[in-house]
Amino acid sequence: MVARVIPVEPFDLVIFGGTGDLARRKILPGLFRRFLSGQMPEDSRIIGAARSDIDSAGYRVMIKEAIAEFGGEEKSETKAIAKFLDRLEYVPVDARGEGGWSELAALVRSDVIRAFYFSVGPGLFGDLAERLHSYKIADRDSRIVVEKPFGRDLASAQELNETLAEHFKEDQIYRIDHYLGKETVQNLMAVRFGNVLFEPLWNNHYVDHIQITVAETVDVGGRGAYYDKSGAMRDMVQNHLMQLLCLIAMEPPSQFGADAVRDEKLKVIRALEPVEPHHIVRGQYEAGEDSKSYREHAENPRSFTESFIAMKCHISNWRWAGVPFYMRTGKAMSERVSEITVVFKDLGHSIFEEDDKRHRNILSIRLQPNEGMDLQVTIKEPGPGGMRLIDVPLDMTFAEALGDEAEDVPDAYERLIMDVIRGNQTLFMRGDEVEAAWKWTDPIIQGWEARNDVPKTYEPGSSGPEDAMLLIHRDGRKWREIKG
Ligand code: NAP
Repeated sequence: MVARVIPVEPFDLVIFGGTGDLARRKILPGLFRRFLSGQMPEDSRIIGAARSDIDSAGYRVMIKEAIAEFGGEEKSETKAIAKFLDRLEYVPVDARGEGGWSELAALVRSDVIRAFYFSVGPGLFGDLAERLHSYKIADRDSRIVVEKPFGRDLASAQELNETLAEHFKEDQIYRIDHYLGKETVQNLMAVRFGNVLFEPLWNNHYVDHIQITVAETVDVGGRGAYYDKSGAMRDMVQNHLMQLLCLIAMEPPSQFGADAVRDEKLKVIRALEPVEPHHIVRGQYEAGEDSKSYREHAENPRSFTESFIAMKCHISNWRWAGVPFYMRTGKAMSERVSEITVVFKDLGHSIFEEDDKRHRNILSIRLQPNEGMDLQVTIKEPGPGGMRLIDVPLDMTFAEALGDEAEDVPDAYERLIMDVIRGNQTLFMRGDEVEAAWKWTDPIIQGWEARNDVPKTYEPGSSGPEDAMLLIHRDGRKWREIKG
């Protein structure tokens, strides 16, 4: 079975920052895969724009190299690559100056969908938005895509939102969080709202607790100085983890539409209780046998920035009253895993006399690696010897269930870019969501700053500081093992 590909309307996609890391590593290789799948109409074009003084031919060489370096199996499709490169143009443009803008205005067509990807630092968003209007390149139907970080606190996020709002309406702004583009994240909604089985159990009567883990094996490496200004809370929790929390906890929207879904997510963020300081563990990795410590990477021997965070949160509403949500994320951990785990409550009473174990249904939703879900159920251990119970997974790993079709599943970036062209904002964050998320995280960060909170150290390649284990052990629960 081959995945169904729905072509989009012809478009001109301008990538500001088209020579940067994100464009070369993710956006262009992703667009090439969409081209290969037949989703990109004949007369669509991608226009790179940055200050580098190259021409379109030079840009094509750069992107050919990027596909060779960052592409997957598709990098062997040399004929297709050549055809894809024909779709590329480049205009040298300075976001802060006037050079190149008239040339860009002449190039971008007005009779196709116009999308502008701001793959540059947020300090340039205002300049780009302003010039897109003053040079009449964008109109009311155009879309802009903006990248994280979307602010570093509530005030800066509000300022960014206001800057963009001067020139674009909310329905034109696509704030990308690539976690929302992942197949499993969307499947989470399909499983919750497309089956009769789960939703009746999705509440504090049946759910004991929920865990969200986003563990990375990489350390901050050469990005240390940049990372040191943000830390795990700003870099991961405020956006990715909170988005996952919203999807798992939200009420069923009335329909699968952008505002219906985002209204429900916003209600979750607003219902998040402030977190008690003793329900948060911050960590910083130490030096390993042949790896540097966080502080060495950050080139800041007195850095108090966290490279790991674990926290226990509560959502103050009828559905989730009393159900803890444990979240953790960190760098330099033992495995690369992103996973949401729903742990259901124990049976009130067991009819099986010899069974002294606690059997729990556990639904785990895996974003990476091996996107998929598995549901742990209790069955009789096969064979003689009486009624002995064991827990087995009902594995719903997509690669096995869907065969070839799963291999055609687009990567998060390419899927989201196609959603921009389609004008579908469901999987993008709305401005009020981003602000509500900062409103919740700001007091936590301010508390650390006021107290000069010192993160606990942890060994690289571990599951984080010991205190993160205690955070959940104190409640008689345990983290799911981090297994890749
Ligand atoms: P980068 O490698 O530093 O690239 C920045 C791009 O902006 C370059 O193409 C640069 O090209 C261009 N640029 C800089 N100043 C400009 C100006 N005045 N006018 C026009 N173009 C200008 O950064 P990146 O890693 O691609 O990241 C881009 C944005 O995405 C950042 O906000 C980053 O935080 C965010 N992001 C990146 C990643 C990632 O994986 N890399 C992931 C998530 C979010 P010239 O120097 O030629 O002008």
